[in-house]
Amino acid sequence: MELGFTQEQEMFRESVRRFMAKECTREYIRACSDNDRFPSELYAKMAAQGWMGIPFPEAYGGAGLGPIELAIFLEEAGYGWYGAGSSYFTTVVLGGYNILLYGTEAQKREFIPKIVSGEVKTAFALSEPNVGSDAASVELFAAEEGDHFVLNGQKMFTTCAHVADHIVTVTRTIRQPERKHHGITIFLVDARSPGIEIRPLKQLGRTATHTNEVFYRDVRVPRERMMGTLHEGWTGLNQGLGVERMSVAMMYAGTAQAIVDYAVRYAKDRRQFGQPISKFQAVQHKLADMQMKADIARLLGYRVAWMLSAGLPCFKEMSMAKLYASEALFDIANNGVQVMGGYGVLEEYDMELFFRDSRIGMIGAGASEIQRTIIAKQMGL
Ligand SMILES: Cc1cc2nc3c(=O)[nH]c(=O)nc-3n(C[C@H](O)[C@H](O)[C@H](O)COP(=O)(O)OP(=O)(O)OC[C@H]3O[C@@H](n4cnc5c(N)ncnc54)[C@H](O)[C@@H]3O)c2cc1C
Repeated sequence: MELGFTQEQEMFRESVRRFMAKECTREYIRACSDNDRFPSELYAKMAAQGWMGIPFPEAYGGAGLGPIELAIFLEEAGYGWYGAGSSYFTTVVLGGYNILLYGTEAQKREFIPKIVSGEVKTAFALSEPNVGSDAASVELFAAEEGDHFVLNGQKMFTTCAHVADHIVTVTRTIRQPERKHHGITIFLVDARSPGIEIRPLKQLGRTATHTNEVFYRDVRVPRERMMGTLHEGWTGLNQGLGVERMSVAMMYAGTAQAIVDYAVRYAKDRRQFGQPISKFQAVQHKLADMQMKADIARLLGYRVAWMLSAGLPCFKEMSMAKLYASEALFDIANNGVQVMGGYGVLEEYDMELFFRDSRIGMIGAGASEIQRTIIAKQMGL
């Protein structure tokens, strides 16, 4: 495994880090987070840098870069603010990358350039009120009617649906298939179609890119908006999992490092018993563990990025990366609060927000229990 980065990659990292430090100010983060407000200005500026194009071929207006550059970007975005990474991830990875993998040629030509320019945002709707971890049991039904499909049902937890122009919607197209993984079809649904209703959900953290309920009532979707093969949508979904899990793992690794750095600064500054609390071995050990976990998260994420670039199968490794990074992130935030004592839970400090934003990682994009089951299966258990 290649552990170093090229000079170009280092320069790229540096420029993303500088950008995030400038744009993700405490005031901006709070203004978005406290008001459930999508960071539109930040999003537009990231697009202006050309970063939405990282994983896309130049033929579709992309930058033609690979998984390692995507991993670097998301690590640095996560370091700056989860909201930078999350707003990017929802459109570029969950939307654009899925279109690239199994959209039609016409869809790629129409949508990817608009995603790259920042003109089009997407959301990804798989989960439903009765369909969470058991994702293949999707119920929202798409009935074929001539050159259209008519969608009826409800989606749940659709991140950023309220700002999306199009919603990648996973539907059932055979009511009672022999296997639940069959009879699933994916559509790129115009979010402003008649019959779509989007209701924001109030949640614990990550409020700037919050989730939504999406209701579909007789929503007519033209056949040319079908992504991939009729009834075989599950196969398409699986193709995108490597990049998806690597991306969230790298975002979490970046945020984990931001929390460690914040806690270290605080511990060096805060004095008790006549000296900085960073001089107490109990605090040092906590910080050492936090740093080690952030490093492991990062390494597991880059291992997947490297395996993806080398075209190697990494089903087990991608679940490990996502699982470890999400649990490490929450553990680091939890210990970060402890290092800060009472100040760790005050809104006046960043740790309180880090703590709330980090809890959700162990649930979204496949809960920890499901990731462990996947790893165990890959171990032949
Ligand atoms: C912030 C956030 C953003 C999200 N964004 C999106 C999005 O953009 N698009 C989208 O489609 N979905 C999204 N989701 C939904 C997310 O994918 C689901 O929440 C997740 O898959 C778990 O489903 P559930 O919440 O229904 O929990 P359930 O599936 O009901 O699980 C509840 C508990 O039971 C456990 N459990 C379930 N089955 C098993 C099993 N077989 N073995 C062991 N334990 C099990 C789970 O691990 C969990 O601990 C988001 C969720 C959150 C919280």
